[in-house]
Amino acid sequence: MDISDLRDRILADDRRALSRAITLIESTRADHREQAVALIEALKTSGREAVRIGLSGTPGVGKSTFIESFGMMLTAQGLKVAVLAVDPSSTRSGGSILGDKTRMERLSRDPKAFIRPSPSQSHLGGVARRTREAVTLCEAAGFDVVLIETVGVGQSETVVAEMSDLFILLLAPAGGDELQGVKRGIMEMADIILVNKADGDLKPAAIRTCSDYAGALRLLRKRPQDPEGFPKATTVSALHEEGLRHAWDEMMTLIKWRRENGHFAGRRAEQARYWFREEVRQGLLARLATPDARTVMQDYAERVAEGEMTPTVAASEVLRRLHGEP
Ligand code: GDP
Repeated sequence: MDISDLRDRILADDRRALSRAITLIESTRADHREQAVALIEALKTSGREAVRIGLSGTPGVGKSTFIESFGMMLTAQGLKVAVLAVDPSSTRSGGSILGDKTRMERLSRDPKAFIRPSPSQSHLGGVARRTREAVTLCEAAGFDVVLIETVGVGQSETVVAEMSDLFILLLAPAGGDELQGVKRGIMEMADIILVNKADGDLKPAAIRTCSDYAGALRLLRKRPQDPEGFPKATTVSALHEEGLRHAWDEMMTLIKWRRENGHFAGRRAEQARYWFREEVRQGLLARLATPDARTVMQDYAERVAEGEMTPTVAASEVLRRLHGEP
């Protein structure tokens, strides 16, 4: 594959080239990986910067409805919008939560939008690393906004927050007066909470839920990187396309403030550190997955099980051997 040609076409906003490039970065073949790394390197200096928005919410809260109407609102303003996903379920069960073909039909026909389902890889770490690279490709292709969607289960919010400039939590109106079991850690990651379905019969419950969460957010420690009033909660109706403009204005207020105060670049710098450590960690784990390493592991595991060696001694011998020492 001609990498410099692919690079030029991505810079010229050729969508087929972008799709091919994302397929390339998702491939686990060693030669593909090498080309992918070269491509990302070649696009590094594009100088283009998108607003990267992470969006999380449990199935049913209205993520696809929201992304569709929010995305259409942005493209109507002339902005180019890319939608990517991190779906930890897409490999495990074979049934992706976020990959449904019928989702976001209108947005997928919009020439200013680009939608790409979650890569299917064997573990969240792999999915996340490749999605992060896809974000940088979309950025080089000149997208103004990159939305990265994930389901509110497990670890995926953390990795999506680590590739986003803003992290948005989408919630549905609560039935009772309980907060919806949202983990404290996720609340702490959220820059803006959007309570969706604030329409019809659900509107009063949405308003109540919103004020509950606004209260809960106030109790969290104020973040030095944010202006007064953030993180905040507000209501939207994705279905009736209400509150979307307000939500976007809030997002832009936060982004603008962070840019002016150095926190935007600061957050990206921290994220670069995170992904560097993650690549090293995953690289080490990959070494354990080679056939040779597996044989060595099994061999030592047997010896440990039979009491021939202690786990500690066996582990340090294996590590020495993995490092190529005798
Ligand atoms: P996802 O699983 O988070 O992607 O949720 P969907 O976007 O598929 O929405 C789940 C259900 O909630 C669908 O039946 C939607 O029509 C409905 N829904 C989504 N947004 C709204 C909204 O703003 N108001 C109301 N009343 N229903 C909504």
